[in-house]
Amino acid sequence: MAGEPGRSRQGILMVISAPSGTGKSTLINRLRAEFPRLAFSVSYTTRAPRAGEQNGREYHFVDMETFIRLRDADELAEWAEVHGNFYGTSRPAVQAMLEQGLDVLFDIDVQGSRQLRQAFAQGAFIFLFPPSMRVLEQRLRGRGTETEESLAKRLANARRELEQADFFDYWIVNNDLESAYRDLRSVYQAEGLRKSCNAGLVEQVLAN
Ligand code: ADP
Ligand code: 5GP
Repeated sequence: MAGEPGRSRQGILMVISAPSGTGKSTLINRLRAEFPRLAFSVSYTTRAPRAGEQNGREYHFVDMETFIRLRDADELAEWAEVHGNFYGTSRPAVQAMLEQGLDVLFDIDVQGSRQLRQAFAQGAFIFLFPPSMRVLEQRLRGRGTETEESLAKRLANARRELEQADFFDYWIVNNDLESAYRDLRSVYQAEGLRKSCNAGLVEQVLAN
């Protein structure tokens, strides 16, 4: 079976995008805790760390000058300006994780997802929906991390992001957390069963 110990399998790229406050980080942390071979692409960002965030864990926090240097050196597989800050994916870090045989999970916005599809020509692109705009606002406020200005920007952007949901392969609604987690887990497991992830299986079975 795919995923059997001792069999190599090509790493999966899983991209999760959603309006800010929908629950991406919550679901991603849970999936990573359950599946150790699933690595997280730690992005670069010019935004300030939130309370509790650690440099190198949630993000690599950099100044604008460093971000531009990385971008100009072609170190970013994709980058975008989101809610007034810059965010980008480290190309060498992703390549290293794939070479180690890991699966890689990305928490990036819609613009970045489009660029990644071009850069890697593979991957499962998942759009996570909040159950409603009303609930989204409650969650963002409840998280207590945003100023009124940042909150308004994130809610305005949410509408534009939802309008682009059609780009994605999978749609999951994060209403009940347990049910959304089951859906995400199913997508991850199904992706590992793709024939493109299991090259050499036919030969292996025939040879033994
Ligand atoms: P994102 O990473 O998409 O910005 P977070 O994971 O930080 O979102 O979640 C935003 C807030 O909503 C957090 O306070 C989180 O605990 C809460 N949350 C996430 N999923 C649910 C859910 N299904 N039901 C209720 N609250 C949720
Ligand atoms: P936050 O500031 O709430 O952590 O993230 C804001 C938005 O930036 C989210 O939509 C998140 O998915 C997106 N984001 C985080 N890292 C990246 C990245 O490397 N590239 C792109 N394009 N978006 C990112």
